Amino acid sequence: MPRERLVIIGSGPAGYTAAIYTSRAQLSPVMITGKESGGQLMGTTEVENFPGFPEGILGPELMEKMKKQAERFGTRFVADDVVFVDLSARPFIVKTAAESFETDAFIISTGASAKWLNVTGETQYKGRGVSSCATCDGFFFRGKDVAVVGGGDAAAEEAHYLKKFAKKIVMLVRSDVMKASKIIQDRIINDPQISILWNTEVKEVLGNGKIVTGLRIVNNKTQEEKKLDVQGLFVAIGHKPNTDLFQGKLELNVSGYIITKPFTTETSVDGVFACGDVADSKYRQAVSAAGTGCMAAIDAERYLERH
Ligand code: NDP
Repeated sequence: MPRERLVIIGSGPAGYTAAIYTSRAQLSPVMITGKESGGQLMGTTEVENFPGFPEGILGPELMEKMKKQAERFGTRFVADDVVFVDLSARPFIVKTAAESFETDAFIISTGASAKWLNVTGETQYKGRGVSSCATCDGFFFRGKDVAVVGGGDAAAEEAHYLKKFAKKIVMLVRSDVMKASKIIQDRIINDPQISILWNTEVKEVLGNGKIVTGLRIVNNKTQEEKKLDVQGLFVAIGHKPNTDLFQGKLELNVSGYIITKPFTTETSVDGVFACGDVADSKYRQAVSAAGTGCMAAIDAERYLERH
């Protein structure tokens, strides 16, 4: 089994940034990218808030550039999914379907996945009216009418954030209560720009082949169906951190995110560092993920120097 100094698992902005820093520091990292590399940005179109790209850049193109930058300094890539890790002894062990590695340190940047509704049209119109991130895509809905699905803090915050751009925002809440904290709920309920449809679910995303033109919604109490004329749908029904591999091996919080020590990327296991959305349920931005990727690289480098 090859013995590595550092293995990075996951290939979003956090992982690539960690790879750029650690390969420049001559740690010869191996990055296990997953079969679908690039993370959540692969599903976006224009990214306008990543510093350094004043004209904006397509999400997949940004990831390709990050990959090339990591490659330039000697990162080796394994385009497979990790199926097993052993963090209980040194060196650590990581296995994909085809290969196994021993490693002195790990950086985990497996990200999180937005939960989706799984209704007809949703996948077809992702990036063309359907989004899971108002901070990323709200700007494209200036003067338009949009719907936000969900009743938690994230949905309420998305609706509030969209006020800056959208003309009207309709929140679709599947029950007759919102889970969001009282203070943010009050703000939403009393806002003339935001309306709430309770007991309402999306049945189908409608479009003209290019962009979203509306939603087919149903009141789940009366079963009454109708068309809602909106040009955007923001799905904010929660995220799932990609931590199944680490259950029982690293300390996770109640929602499954990896717990890191404040202001570091150190996890509950010495020599294992976590960065990006897998350890962040709050900011979830490409640039904040990249920032913590840099922190993880520096933390790992110092750890390896000490050992
Ligand atoms: P939550 O799990 O808190 O809420 C998810 C919401 O989506 C619930 O209202 C749920 O409805 C609804 N939902 C789930 N599945 C569906 C579905 N298939 N169709 C329609 N609605 C659905 O997730 P959040 O992302 O809102 O928040 C995650 C965590 O992050 C929470 O702890 C939250 O407090 C925190 N957070 C805090 C913020 C802040 O403090 N500023 C901002 C954002 C998030 P139901 O209630 O019926 O299950």
